[in-house]
Amino acid sequence: MTAQLIDGIALSAQLRIQVAQRAAALRGRGVVPGLAVVLVGDDPASQVYVRNKVKACQDNGLHSILERHPAALTEAELLSRVEALNQDPSIHGILVQLPLPAHIDAHKVIEAISSAKDVDGFHVASAGALMVGRPGFWPCTPYGCMKMLDSIGYDLKGKHAVVIGRSNIVGKPMAMMLLQKNATVTICHSATADLKAMTLQADVVVAAVGKRNMLTADMVKPGAVVIDVGMNRTDDGKLCGDIDFNAVREVASFITPVPGGVGPMTITMLLVNTLEAAEQM
Ligand code: NDP
Repeated sequence: MTAQLIDGIALSAQLRIQVAQRAAALRGRGVVPGLAVVLVGDDPASQVYVRNKVKACQDNGLHSILERHPAALTEAELLSRVEALNQDPSIHGILVQLPLPAHIDAHKVIEAISSAKDVDGFHVASAGALMVGRPGFWPCTPYGCMKMLDSIGYDLKGKHAVVIGRSNIVGKPMAMMLLQKNATVTICHSATADLKAMTLQADVVVAAVGKRNMLTADMVKPGAVVIDVGMNRTDDGKLCGDIDFNAVREVASFITPVPGGVGPMTITMLLVNTLEAAEQM
């Protein structure tokens, strides 16, 4: 069996049409949905991510500002910038690009963002809302993965989903979202004793680790749906995910590629969250 691709670029394009329509409706009511992206330092990967996010806003009828600060910005200065954005009525969503320089406490900065503007979904209020099944902003990457499962009409009820990775921004919220859709969820991490034994039972595998080829074809149950969140580089510098794509593709029923899978969906869900923030204000 050769798996069908879940194309994150095509799905994003569809969802972004809806985003642009909702943004136009808001503008018609005199509200221009606005996202502030804050970048501290000059990490090259972060610079690419923030540029892509700002461009996606501009292309889809949202207003966005990019604040660049030197790596030497103090924590107090950053907190005061966040507070100014909290108070700014033209800004509905605030995203502070991670990672932050080591002298800044990222948790403190995230907690300083108004939960009403927490479009990244990293605030404890957002995490708590997801945990207890209340409305709130869902972190964009796992939210995008859920949209990809929706797009193939996959019913998670009663299925076994295995999430590899337990970060606060991907693995844990991913597990909560799958659970909310009635999957039986196993979360694996670096101390999991026998990862292969877990993944072989999985109807759905989400790999969110950050290591090339960490999910190989012999670890995947025939017919499973495989979602690759990982972003890594091959020896010749090309972007790749966590799964051994060509081999796993011959075992799975559906698979997401890297590039062109979860990455574009993450940005799309940021636009969706920003619109929701603007609609709620
Ligand atoms: P983290 O480094 O925060 O988390 C990685 C997780 O993988 C940890 O929970 C870690 O376990 C686990 N892990 C590490 N080694 C193993 C192993 N051998 N077996 C099982 N589990 C293991 O990363 P993130 O969650 O932030 O990101 C994961 C990947 O997704 C990265 O490649 C990142 O670049 C990518 N990413 C992609 C996005 C996109 O838009 N496409 C957005 C966000 C992230 P432990 O907790 O025990 O250390």
